[in-house]
Amino acid sequence: MAIIGFIGLGTMGAPMARNLLSAGHELRVFDVSAEACAMLASEGATATENAIEAAEGAEFAITMLPNDTIVSGVMLGEEGLIEQLSARPLLIDCSTISPDTTRRIAHAAADKGFGIIDAPVSGGPTGAAEGTLSFMVGGSETDFARAEPVLKNMGRLIVHAGDNGAGQVAKLCNNMTAAVVMAATAEALALGISQGLDPEKLSSIMANSSAGSFVLNRWNPWPGVMPDTPASRDYAGGFQLGLMLKDLNLAVANARDAGASVPFGALAQSMYMMQAGRAQDAVRADFSSIQKLFTRPA
Ligand code: NAD
Repeated sequence: MAIIGFIGLGTMGAPMARNLLSAGHELRVFDVSAEACAMLASEGATATENAIEAAEGAEFAITMLPNDTIVSGVMLGEEGLIEQLSARPLLIDCSTISPDTTRRIAHAAADKGFGIIDAPVSGGPTGAAEGTLSFMVGGSETDFARAEPVLKNMGRLIVHAGDNGAGQVAKLCNNMTAAVVMAATAEALALGISQGLDPEKLSSIMANSSAGSFVLNRWNPWPGVMPDTPASRDYAGGFQLGLMLKDLNLAVANARDAGASVPFGALAQSMYMMQAGRAQDAVRADFSSIQKLFTRPA
């Protein structure tokens, strides 16, 4: 069993850390929220005062943080892990951030002799709690092989996508597609239902025909079609529209940097932005609430 520093104990990080504890690892945790640290400490982790204390002397340092600025702040600069740590844990960043920032951090880490991988996840809070996340990993073969047993304690599918940054690119491709398919499905359902078709029948026809997808099989955006989807509980829970918008922003910026063309991604970005601005708490609703853009007010 390993000594692991875990930084960022939010919606995803806390259940992931819990699975590492259950697997028998020694965990040193840090979050700017003292409450989040105390919660994990009550379950057997050691709470620390800062990220450096959490990672110092550990074999692995895992970060699960909100965005590029925060991950860069924790990793880089005079006060960052890369400058401050005297030992060299394998750095595992599970946050979703831009491939560019990831590569910049990886270069800085390599210059100081650290191994580092990007390992963003898919599966949401449920996958994090159940230990069934998918990890998309960027980094060297050697670092991937070192990290794999630890990632297996938190996930089911662990894929080496390529060099540093490739995990983030894979994650953005996946989420951009999910956003586009969700919006396209919502548009088609609204078209059929506006002409009197039954939502369940239309969904079933499409799910078993060429429009079938993860969205129609597991995440139907029309309220009441599937009892356990966010749509059927007023779009509560699930994957927040604000997070999907963040990923679309990253995907479109990444496409610009890479000289790639993503017209559907850019259109989806505009649509999710429009929905985000329609109500005060719209960003917190599940991303299937994009359905509301296509539904006439009653
Ligand atoms: P979150 O906001 O719930 O948690 C982030 C945690 O980081 C918070 O507890 C916060 O206090 C802590 N934090 C912020 N700044 C810090 C710092 N400087 N040092 C230490 N801790 C700090 O976010 P989340 O939903 O857990 O998402 C984390 C990452 O995973 C994001 O990049 C997100 O895009 C990605 N992700 C989220 C989901 C999801 O469904 N929530 C799914 C897949 C990927």
